[in-house]
Parts: sequence; C-alpha cells; structure tokens
Amino acid sequence: MKTNDKDLLDRARQVIPGGVNSPVRSFKSVGGTPVFIERASDAYLYGRDGKEYLDLICSWGAMILGHGKEEAADILKEQALKGVSYGAPTFSEIEMAEQVSKMLPSVEMLRMVNSGTEATMSAIRLARGYTDRPKLIKFNGCYHGHSDSLLAQAGSGVLSMSNPSSPGVPPEMVKHTINLEFNNQEQLKYTFSKEGKHIAAVIVEPIAGNMNLVPADQEFLQLMRDLCTEHGAVLIFDEVMCGFRVALGSAQHIYDIAPDLTCLGKVIGGGLPVGAFGGKREIMEQLAPVGPVYQAGTLSGNPMVVALGLYTLRQLDDEFYENLTKTAEFIIDNFNRLASETGLKICTRQNAGMLGIYYGLDNPPSNLSEAQQQDEELFKKIFWALLEEGVHLPPSHFEACFISAAHDSKATAKLSIAIDNIIPSFK
Ligand code: PMP
Repeated sequence: MKTNDKDLLDRARQVIPGGVNSPVRSFKSVGGTPVFIERASDAYLYGRDGKEYLDLICSWGAMILGHGKEEAADILKEQALKGVSYGAPTFSEIEMAEQVSKMLPSVEMLRMVNSGTEATMSAIRLARGYTDRPKLIKFNGCYHGHSDSLLAQAGSGVLSMSNPSSPGVPPEMVKHTINLEFNNQEQLKYTFSKEGKHIAAVIVEPIAGNMNLVPADQEFLQLMRDLCTEHGAVLIFDEVMCGFRVALGSAQHIYDIAPDLTCLGKVIGGGLPVGAFGGKREIMEQLAPVGPVYQAGTLSGNPMVVALGLYTLRQLDDEFYENLTKTAEFIIDNFNRLASETGLKICTRQNAGMLGIYYGLDNPPSNLSEAQQQDEELFKKIFWALLEEGVHLPPSHFEACFISAAHDSKATAKLSIAIDNIIPSFK
C-alpha cells in the first residue's frame, strides 16, 4: 500500500523533533518532505511510497558494499545467535584493531567507540591529556561531530575567540577552539607562531566531505604536519567520512602524510553505529586503563559491529577502489553533460567513493566560503527533478555524494536516463 510521506512526517513530528533522528534527513535545506525508507537493496532505496531510488547517500558514506547483502546478513545472524553484546573482551576486537593497523600503518593502536562524534571528542581529550595543553585548531567547513568544543565558529579575527555555533554550548566550552580557513597556509603559520606552545592538536578532514567535497592541498597538509611536529602538537586526521572511501589506505595514503591520531567511523562498521580512534602507541597508551586519560563505552567494540565492520574491511582492495573510481567518473560525467547540454554552471570532482557536484560555480571550491557561493536554488531544482526521476541525492549542497560497490552499470544507467529526462526542463 502506498503511504503518503507527508502524513508520515506529520506523525513523526508528534514524537520525534522534526520527525528525524538527525537534522540533515529532514530535507530542511531543500524544502518539502523526506522520503521514508522501507528497505534497501544493492544501490537502491525503496520508499514507503512504493518507489525505487538510486541511492547517492549510502548512509552518508557507511554503505560502501551496498545494501541488503546476503553475506552481511548471514554474518549478523551468526553473531546474533552467539550473543549481541558481552561487555567483555573478544577475539574479534583484536582482529579489528590488527586489520585497521594493517590498512593504516599510522594506527599502531586502536580504540573503538560508537560514533564519529565520540571518536573525535575522545581523540581531542587524549591529545590534550598527552600534551597537557588546552588549545585546538579546526577549520571552517570541516565537521567533526557535535561535541561541545567542536561546535565553534570563527570569531571576528584569526585569533579572536570562537563563538559557540549552537545554543547550549557555553562560550567557555569553545574558548580553546581556534577556527581557521581550510587550505589557508598563512593563517596556520601565523596561529602557530603566536600560540604554538598552547596548541594541543590540529584536527582536519584531509578530504572534507562536509562542505560538499573539498580536498586539502598537499602543501597545506604538509605544512600542518611540519608545524605540529615542530611545536609538539598532535595532528588528528578526521577520516570518519573519507576513511576507506577515497582509497584503500584512506586520505593519509593519498597524501603520504602520517597523522599522530586518526578518527574513523562509517565504513568500519558497515552501517552499524561505530567510531574508532587510533594512532601512535606513545599517545594511545595515555588512555585508561594504561594511562590517566579517561575514556570508556558500554557498547564499544560491540561484537555485531565488529563482525560486520571486519567483513566490510576485508572486502576492500586496490581493485575495489579502481572500480569505485570508474563508477564515480561515469556519474560525474553525467553531471558534466547536464551542464554542457543546458549551459548550467555545474562542476564536479571525485575521489573514488566520494563525489563533489557543485552548483553555480565555475571551479570546484577550495574552502567553505567558496562552497557557500554555490547556487542553492539551482541545487534545489536539480535535487527535486532527480528525485522525481528516482535518483536520491543527499538533500544539501554542502554534502558530498557517495557510491558503493553495488552501483553497477544498471544503477549508473538509471542515473544517465534520469539526467536525459531532466535536461529539457533546464534548457
Ligand atoms: N567527522 C566527520 C568527518 C563526519 O563526517 C562526521 C559525521 N558525518 C562525524 C565526524 C560525526 O560522526 P557521527 O555522526 O557518527 O557522530
């Protein structure tokens, strides 16, 4: 039976703030009613409206193998019958840490948590505990979850105090957070020259996926690495989103830069709630119970999550990313075709499993203020036109698109046809 998403949203809003359990799902940025999902299979979401949608969200990056895979279901069933949580150590947690360490050599030790937010929050506490310093540098447009000290926006000058970016965060909670422009080497150098001995950590998304897709410049990341080393600050790569999405060795492999700590999430749980942080032994051993920095979690390293995460990581190899890249190229070629055949200003780029499609720009952005120059109205029109054709983009022009191994030629053909179909209305 077809259900009306509008009715579902009204009903959801009675009992869930905004009808959603995470704000971006509400379609606030595009207006209108979100599609309520009934099930998903391979590269497709199926709505309660009875329609099939090509999924370009992939659970915000997590579903790198695609949806509803039988083998994944078998693994979960097998684990569920052995128990879903023990609150005691397991063999598979050792395998998980070893697997991540093998894939990311900078991660000598790993601690699992339950979300990306927990991973970054804990990594920052660890960096502060390790250095005995308070200050944290982050970059505008990078998102690191919703813990208090990270919900900060830039003050009026480079070194002026940050402001909370949400009510509920007292100004004292962000007074040690310094917000700088992404890809701005001068600001970074200046800040270290003034504040170097107080800086505990720099946290960055090396390939940012939270202002659409914006990779850091090689020189910018290298400078960050050098300044952290010179001043004794901890370099944290937040690879919650780009980790195991952009390459087998993640962004740190692409740039050939080893961070001191790495935050992970999404892919490493195969779609179950997960986060992890890891890095240099010397730093990680500051964590309880070995060291004094406290961090804990009832469900951390949960056997269901670890079973699915390990299975997911074990599917990944170089060929996997070559195939993702081919699919990504095919998809962005279609958006480039939409631009060339209509004269719309759309530009694109891709990093294997992550795609950037920018609306109303001549060139892909290199920081948040450039990403903010996008034409929101144009994006909304394209978003709704494609949704009508059964293609579900992320409902915001500040989000990257994601694909999976299940995005095969049938799936990309669906996109191609959808683009063909919307071209006339944009001419
Ligand atoms: N870091 C990055 C780079 C993210 O993209 C996200 C979420 N999209 C987070 C941290 C927070 O992760 P979570 O939503 O699992 O708390």
